Amino acid sequence: MLRFNYHSHTNYCDGTCSAENMIKSAIDQGLRYFGISSHAPLPFETDWTMKNTDLIRYIDELKQLKHKYKNKITVFSGLEVDYVPDLEMLTNKADLISGIDYIIGSVHFLGKLKDATRWTVDYDKSEFERGISESFNGDRKSAVKNYFRLIGDMADKMEPDIIGHLDLIKKNNQNNYFFDESEPWYIETVRNCLKRIANTSSVIEINTGGVARGYMKEFYPSDWILKEVLEMEIPVTISSDSHKSEDIASRFDDAVSKLESLGFEKIHYLTENGWQKIDVGSLKWQKK
Ligand SMILES: [Zn+2]
Ligand SMILES: [Zn+2]
Repeated sequence: MLRFNYHSHTNYCDGTCSAENMIKSAIDQGLRYFGISSHAPLPFETDWTMKNTDLIRYIDELKQLKHKYKNKITVFSGLEVDYVPDLEMLTNKADLISGIDYIIGSVHFLGKLKDATRWTVDYDKSEFERGISESFNGDRKSAVKNYFRLIGDMADKMEPDIIGHLDLIKKNNQNNYFFDESEPWYIETVRNCLKRIANTSSVIEINTGGVARGYMKEFYPSDWILKEVLEMEIPVTISSDSHKSEDIASRFDDAVSKLESLGFEKIHYLTENGWQKIDVGSLKWQKK
């Protein structure tokens, strides 16, 4: 049975395991294709992205590990690259260093606080509240619209291989705490973003990380968004966004069932020859 995952983190960024331990665990968990995608360095300090000075070492190490384990698993070197407002020039695909097989494009940053530091949408409720208050004058709707505009801009300009956790903005919105995800303006905003993605070659991931780590009930993106994705014929892959080795294939089978129940027939997976698709049914776990 084919298993794959292209969204995983190591101790080069905020993951807890070495790249080699992640690969060994991917082999143990029966993955055929495995991509490592540590958070790419940024031109400012964070405690969760790779240091600029580590990038060359990261690429070299993955190159060696790819070779070392090539008879057991196909390893890809990736990066999760942030699309940061006001820093667009630095996040263009062309600026990426050779040796990287694919990139995941994500939006974590949504603006600057009054003290000029940048805030992320996925930290916690109080940072989210402060960010909306200081960067958007308390206008939640405008913050959410801006988030999805950035995702659309990223798709247009970077055309990443994979769009990371499309509706990450809902992470701190449990029980519609900040905004109502069923309101027409929200649906329209997401739809417009999907239309922009549909015009690119980017693949959307169904990201199981939030559910696997226990703080989300639904995957990214939500079911209704996945239905729109299907209707717009945007390709989909499955990712765990694992930050530790045990989570590499976490909820993979649930994601397959979810996609099947929503009517998806094909799932995309990255190979040595680029993206291929496979029938959802053939990914279902069959007990021997
Ligand atoms: Zn991310
Ligand atoms: Zn990630």
